Amino acid sequence: MKVNIVALILILFITSTAVMCKEPEKVSLRFLGNINYAPLLFMNNDTPTGLGVELVHAVLHSAQIDGEVELMEWDEAQKQMKAGKADALVLINKSPARLELYDFSEPFLESDFSIFHHISRPEINTLNSLSGLKVGSEKGGYARTILENNPNIEIITIPNWLTGFRMIEAGTIDALLTEKWVGEYTLSHYKISDIAISPIPTKKTTSYIAVAKGNKALLDKINEGLRKLSETDVRERILSHWSSETITYITNRELKAERLHKLMLLLAMALLSILGALGVYSMYQQRIIKQQNQKLKDYNTQLEELFVTDKLTGLYNRHKLDDTLISELMRFKRYQAPLSIIIMDIDFFKSINDTYGHQVGDEVLKDFANLNKNAIRSSDILGRWGGEEFLIICPETDLESAYILAEKLRSILESHEFANVGNITASFGVTTATIGANVDNLIAQADDALYKAKSKGRNRVERFSAE
Ligand code: GH3
Ligand code: MG
Ligand code: MG
Repeated sequence: MKVNIVALILILFITSTAVMCKEPEKVSLRFLGNINYAPLLFMNNDTPTGLGVELVHAVLHSAQIDGEVELMEWDEAQKQMKAGKADALVLINKSPARLELYDFSEPFLESDFSIFHHISRPEINTLNSLSGLKVGSEKGGYARTILENNPNIEIITIPNWLTGFRMIEAGTIDALLTEKWVGEYTLSHYKISDIAISPIPTKKTTSYIAVAKGNKALLDKINEGLRKLSETDVRERILSHWSSETITYITNRELKAERLHKLMLLLAMALLSILGALGVYSMYQQRIIKQQNQKLKDYNTQLEELFVTDKLTGLYNRHKLDDTLISELMRFKRYQAPLSIIIMDIDFFKSINDTYGHQVGDEVLKDFANLNKNAIRSSDILGRWGGEEFLIICPETDLESAYILAEKLRSILESHEFANVGNITASFGVTTATIGANVDNLIAQADDALYKAKSKGRNRVERFSAE
């Protein structure tokens, strides 16, 4: 018997210790919301999400309530609440029936209820215009309470908003009444574009958090949380975060206009690109043409120079001298300004070639050319007449002046030291143009004078005279 009593005491002790050691189970309060209420309340990867969920969490946090938000069919949520299985309903609107069942918190969120209809039916725009029409609404939703005020409306229960919008598209129902944010979110989320929203909200409503009738303790805490929340900027932060994520809802017409706008923009950009490319191409072409033109010009200049230049000495050639004689004679005849010429011939040049070789002879010719070139005026035209003979055309120069020039050249030459060769001399024939002169007789006269200089002993200047 003693043993039995000790055993009993032991058992009681162990049991009570076990009970005392076991942590009391943490019971968090259940806050239920409508699962079909995106973007306010919806599931994202099995987690309750949305503007409403974030706001409820903020209230719970500031009121230090240990609670969890659970989302389910709205009808089911209300059933569980009535059955006492849940502690609160979130984002719930007031209705007479609900006021009987629940106690409501201070206002939680303002919202607009709006009518959604097919874009082809703009006449559906007020609650009155819904008379005689089939209007979709969720079972147990506040929209249903609004609709039930008008007995002429045939209320069709829709399982969710997406199906409701599809029913409008199919013509099964005429319109749908829902919270504006929810409707707009569903339309944009599923890219439905042929549904319009009535411009005037049907009803401005306020949603609350509801607790079971008489649960004053919880209601006070919730209200305290709401008050505390309003003292911070948390609510504004949540609202602005979600409104920045608002996806704009567009009608088919707007969609078409937008597409057209995009297309036009694209076309304009393409056109600009083409024009730009053409511009660049034509600039490139122009540059090439300019370069080619310049090349051609340079080439022509080179050709012209080649055409009038004596290759060995770089002086004008016979061709250029002939041309110049013609034009200068024309000038002489027109203006009667004097025109004289000097023909020069190196003395005994053959013997230079013979003694020093042809190459040395060439060097002498070049040196001789430079010597004369540097001694004459820029208006005098010096060229190689052929072999070791050179011609100077002296415009605006009379016979005497030409003679003086020839004498100067002769004297310079006489005292010049040529490489390898030393001193050389030349003979000069000078003449001036008279009326009736032409290239042939002018040259013949100069030759005549030159011949005279040669025959008089070389290294001298002779003027042409008619006798
Ligand atoms: P003169 O005093 O009578 O003028 O005697 P010359 O030897 O100068 O005259 P001639 O006409 O007998 O000889 C001219 C020489 O000039 C003959 C020719 O070989 C030479 N000659 C002509 N052209 C050139 C040339 O381009 N280079 C060289 N090295 N010699 C040339
Ligand atoms: Mg000669
Ligand atoms: Mg000679």
